[in-house]
Amino acid sequence: MLKRGDVARLARVVAETRETEIGCDECFEKLDGFAEVELSGLEARSMMPLVGDHIGKCSDCRSTFEALLTALRRT
Ligand SMILES: [Zn+2]
Repeated sequence: MLKRGDVARLARVVAETRETEIGCDECFEKLDGFAEVELSGLEARSMMPLVGDHIGKCSDCRSTFEALLTALRRT
């Protein structure tokens, strides 16, 4: 769940990355790596901010990411 502080931080990130957004295709390509970073306990969003940013805004990619996380956790 997003906390109040997270929303503010997210809004700032969105504002800062507006000119360097990635699309669904590029996000999808990097989603594997992003999920692995996330599962390794590192800050995936700070290491791959564009992917994190896209997932924050795109519900399609977010649900793909969540499915990926679930699948990776199971292995
Ligand atoms: Zn997307």
